[in-house]
Amino acid sequence: MAVYREGIEETIEAHQVNIETGLSSEQVIKSREEFGSNVFVADKRVPLWRKILISLQDVATIILLIAAVISFVSTYIEGTGHYFESLLIIGIVIINSILSIVQEGRAEDSLASLQNLNRMQAKVLRDGEKVLIDADDVVVGDLLVIENGAAIPADGRLIKAVELQAEESALTGESLPVEKNEKATFESDDDVSLGERITMVYRGTTIVNGHARAIVTAIGMQTEMGTIAGLLNSEAQNSLTPLQRRLVQLGKNISWVAIISAIFVMGLGVIQGMDLKHIFLIAISLAVAVVPETLAVIVTMTLALSVQTIAKKHAIIRRLPAVETLGTTNVIASDKTGTLTQNVMTVRQVWHDEQNHLSDVDENLDEPAVDVLSLAAISTNVEVNISDEKKTYAGLPTEVALVRAIETITSREELLRQYPLVEQIPFNSTKKRMTTVHELPDGGYIAITKGAFDVLLPMIKHGNSERAEEVNTSFGRRALRVLAIAKRIFDVMPESPTQEFYEQDLTLVGLVGIIDPPRPESAPAVEKARLAGVKTIMITGDHVETASAIAREIGILRSGDLTITGSELAKLSDQELDKHIKDYTVYARVTPTDKIRIIKSWQRQDATIAMTGDGVNDAPALKAADVGISMGETGTDVAREASDIILTDDNFATIINAISEGRGVYIKVRKTINFLLSANISEILVIFIAMLLGWGSPLLAVHLLFINLVSDGLPGFALSREPMLTNVMNQPPMAKHVKLFAQGLGRQIGLNAGLFAIVTLVAIWVGQNAVIGGLNPNEQIGQTMAFTVLSLTSIIHVLNIRSEKTLFSIKYSANPSLVNMAFLAAIITLVITLLPVTQPLFGLTMISLGHWAIIAILSLMPTIVIEFLKYIRPSLFRV
Ligand code: ADP
Ligand code: MG
Repeated sequence: MAVYREGIEETIEAHQVNIETGLSSEQVIKSREEFGSNVFVADKRVPLWRKILISLQDVATIILLIAAVISFVSTYIEGTGHYFESLLIIGIVIINSILSIVQEGRAEDSLASLQNLNRMQAKVLRDGEKVLIDADDVVVGDLLVIENGAAIPADGRLIKAVELQAEESALTGESLPVEKNEKATFESDDDVSLGERITMVYRGTTIVNGHARAIVTAIGMQTEMGTIAGLLNSEAQNSLTPLQRRLVQLGKNISWVAIISAIFVMGLGVIQGMDLKHIFLIAISLAVAVVPETLAVIVTMTLALSVQTIAKKHAIIRRLPAVETLGTTNVIASDKTGTLTQNVMTVRQVWHDEQNHLSDVDENLDEPAVDVLSLAAISTNVEVNISDEKKTYAGLPTEVALVRAIETITSREELLRQYPLVEQIPFNSTKKRMTTVHELPDGGYIAITKGAFDVLLPMIKHGNSERAEEVNTSFGRRALRVLAIAKRIFDVMPESPTQEFYEQDLTLVGLVGIIDPPRPESAPAVEKARLAGVKTIMITGDHVETASAIAREIGILRSGDLTITGSELAKLSDQELDKHIKDYTVYARVTPTDKIRIIKSWQRQDATIAMTGDGVNDAPALKAADVGISMGETGTDVAREASDIILTDDNFATIINAISEGRGVYIKVRKTINFLLSANISEILVIFIAMLLGWGSPLLAVHLLFINLVSDGLPGFALSREPMLTNVMNQPPMAKHVKLFAQGLGRQIGLNAGLFAIVTLVAIWVGQNAVIGGLNPNEQIGQTMAFTVLSLTSIIHVLNIRSEKTLFSIKYSANPSLVNMAFLAAIITLVITLLPVTQPLFGLTMISLGHWAIIAILSLMPTIVIEFLKYIRPSLFRV
């Protein structure tokens, strides 16, 4: 029988689970031996031979292979035996594919290892203890302890569920939560669809309400999710980031330029009566040389490396495009509690209503404070553990503060013995209150409601509300978070008691003021963001006075800025909100649904907004924001799943670091484009102009391919490791739809390509016309000089594009591999030009020392000109 139809007893029986203590360690080992681990079979990696095949499908590669064939055939017909050129082209194709496969593989590996950081955890009951384990270690038969906001790690049969609702869209496509019921039965024998199997919870779904226990019935590939895992994997991998997509588009545009210039060059050659095979090879290799094949790989590397750097700074990127979006972010909407503040809460003041007594809480609690705090502390979900005489507390920080305060006098356990818990209606940030019901020692019941003062106020019928309001305001001004405690005593429990029943006719007990100091990093981070043109706004469920006090302290609320509360927000129309959205920096007493309105309004102002969130109800807002940020330490699984980025330290300052890194990505990509396209465009210019001037063929196919692969390829890869040389955080963020060639990049490339073309053409002219060192000028000397000058110029150029400041301002240690690679490329260039064995292979010839002197001057010339221009007008060279 299908598991979901089984009765609870049957499931328990089948797995031999003790539902009080869970599996024993022996049972876990046995189960793992029998059923294995809770992992999906490693997703099939594309095998190497397929990768090679795929890389051969590249247009540039196909053009190259055609060139090799043409070269081979014509050599055969001519019978000269010079097969080197065709072999070299094929060699280049092979090296090129190996290089890109290796680099891409590395990028994939580093991204995969990050996914491991993002491991899911699961809470299970084993040997009588609740333990948090790696989701992979869950075994069949495990007793899952399921809390609100949890992600389900394996398929399980519910044995106890309280108001449980699961969001199963990943599995069923249905986005509305499904109500679960462990007791449900299925009448007809027909198979029931996944979404209707309400006695079960499934891997890959999340809990959006209630709590439950379930016995794991299927793990790994046996889960429902396992059966569709293959589908999901392939989908996730094929998506490109916006930047990658734009580069693919750029590549396509350049391919057109390449093809058109190739046709043009061929036409020119034919008119000038050049050798057909020769001109065809030039045209084709020009086409190939123009396309920056390495660009895409370098960008992937850059993204992967940045994701790693960001991870070291305590943020895990869940979706790659988020790195880029961070770079354009200009508004951060941050939670207060835990993100801007330390979330280490401490009770500071207690006000007793009946006695109208205010107590400062430090070492010793006085009588009235004990009265209020006792009730507050038993109305919590804090677990107190005592080990080695030291008490540790687990639970919501606000509640831990209450319990920690009372534990100096008595214990929560002792209090609960006096007032046994009957029922509880848990806290959530929409209701901003919670209620527990207890038996009274002398019969009857007490319902304790604690929550935000302004939420409780309308329900309070007995107590000095006027004085309470004053106290509330004074607490708030002192940046204290206020909890109001109220009670209701009744004799008999109605048949079906409701929340309304418990929370009517309340008597105020008192107010508790809790301090949650700001993190020391918050104020500097807010300031750093401000200098970087990023506005920080605070969104909190807390009271407006408390929120403003803290916001003022950390520089979010400055003179001229406004605050607004959730209820005031509700009264504003969208148009009114849009008009004033830029003035508000503190949103107090908001609910998670308000967050979406705030996001939407900013987005209508064309802002890129990052938003933090931790609760179940924050998930929609996290999705709506341009960058959704969740909390690794305190957040729920639901929020994490909905987010683009997880902060592993929950710290606001981490967001600012990630933004800085995101901006760096864009800059690195611009440098790469600048470097690669400058050389490629100069190649077109040289060939065009030389042919128009009737100088024959200025550069051979092998020359262009060599420059493409070695002179540009080697230093190019090192650009992905380039550190941030300029302070990206003292300039405004980039516009949302910023163009790749914006801010003068196109002009820079034009200038560079022009300079390169001029020196190369001069080199050709000298080689073809000047008698130097007793050597008579000829076409081959011209080609040798052109090749050496263009190759060396391009290699040196990698140093120019790094900064708008002089190249001497950058230390070797900033990016050693870049300098090393440039050196290597230069040495290889010199070696093949100087060695008599390689000269004929590359169509080069011996040149004199005088030629070399000219080559040295010409190769340095563009850099000298650029250095001079940088000196008089650095802004021209903005990176
Ligand atoms: P934040 O957005 O700052 O995280 P919360 O949503 O956690 O704010 O809390 C909002 C308000 O709800 C608080 O000001 C407090 O009055 C009340 N509150 C917070 N935690 C609890 C709790 N555990 N029980 C009852 N009320 C609470
Ligand atoms: Mg909160």
